[in-house]
Amino acid sequence: MRLPMIAGNWKMHKSIKEGVAFVEAIKSDVADTDVEVLICAPYTLLQSLVKAAEGTNVKIGAQNMHYEDKGAFTGEVTADMLLEIGVTHVIIGHSERRQYYNETDETVNLKTLKALAKGLVPVVCVGETLEQREASETKAICKSQVEKAFSGISGDAAKTVVVAYEPIWAIGTGKTASSQDANDVIAYIREVLTALYGDEISEEIRIQYGGSVKPANVAEIMNESDIDGALVGGASLEPDSFVQLVNF
Ligand code: PEP
Repeated sequence: MRLPMIAGNWKMHKSIKEGVAFVEAIKSDVADTDVEVLICAPYTLLQSLVKAAEGTNVKIGAQNMHYEDKGAFTGEVTADMLLEIGVTHVIIGHSERRQYYNETDETVNLKTLKALAKGLVPVVCVGETLEQREASETKAICKSQVEKAFSGISGDAAKTVVVAYEPIWAIGTGKTASSQDANDVIAYIREVLTALYGDEISEEIRIQYGGSVKPANVAEIMNESDIDGALVGGASLEPDSFVQLVNF
């Protein structure tokens, strides 16, 4: 049985004070949930959030990392730096990073390999643009992104990866893929993983949906057979809303 994960992606929002207050506000209300709870915050908040979440079931993740161990990469952060402050997860290849910061399938793969080698759980984002969807390319795009992201990753390591299927046209737009549609693409992504690793391993890999998930639609999405959680942007920013998502 795969443990579903509800993850918040705060993007470029919140001060340390606001983030810590958020964790304080939600921690008892999410304590009894059956899902894994993750908050992915800006770098400046991470250490304070790890401390605030100590002794709770709230895990703290970053939104990006570099694939090298050190070097002249101004503005970048390594996996070891994240581990040193207690971060356990990292989002890799979010569409905003692919769109604005030249993230490619190749860098997604290098980062995923590095995160796994260091013991961070990568949350690897894939998904099609509106144009690609309208051209019926959704499955081909997801197949190609998944195959490239998992290139060179052993079956044992692959089991720990979380995949987030995020149709780009649904991110931050208020448009959600229908739960049936999201489920179909996610089932297809699992077929791609089965072709790479076989049934036993692909059945263990969690695949989330992301794209305008909110308290009003989370239950419908989570009730689909193949969807193992949600990666949530906008609706993860308010404690009440996040608590409702986690306790769908
Ligand atoms: C995201 O940032 O990954 C996301 C899905 O955003 P939103 O929930 O705001 O669409």
